[in-house]
Amino acid sequence: MDHYQQSQKNKLFKPEHGDPYLEPTPQGTAHCPQCGAVHHQGRWSWQPVVPDDAQQQLCPACRRIADDQPAGTLHLAGGFLAGHREEILGLIHSTETAEKSQHALERLLRITDQDGSLLVTTTGMHLAQRIGHALSAAYKGECDYRYAQDEYHLAVHWSRD
Ligand SMILES: [Zn+2]
Repeated sequence: MDHYQQSQKNKLFKPEHGDPYLEPTPQGTAHCPQCGAVHHQGRWSWQPVVPDDAQQQLCPACRRIADDQPAGTLHLAGGFLAGHREEILGLIHSTETAEKSQHALERLLRITDQDGSLLVTTTGMHLAQRIGHALSAAYKGECDYRYAQDEYHLAVHWSRD
């Protein structure tokens, strides 16, 4: 199998395992003391009122942030970045705001400068994918998505010269 075929094949794989940070699932209703997300009927979401019977338990996103264990990693590279850095950071943040409002566990973890490229990490794979799509839609460039087979992780590489 040549390099291109391997790359195409990797794109088709989804991780075999679910998000390990979703375990253990809270029994009943839970409230994250860190971010305020509420676990109810099997999922974490934003709720205007915290139920009285909610147990205090850190949500999976806050646990990933505390452990610095991203589910999504984006590498942004290329000469285009230098002249459009603020604009690109704005797009990353607005994509997070939109995604997080609907999906409480999809958040930015960290944005790091690495010798002219940017490393962006996220608490959910879906946000990493959304940012990749947003960059491609706004700026074209090259974008590649790779799901890890044996763990819950998506690596996105975007570049434009
Ligand atoms: Zn939380």
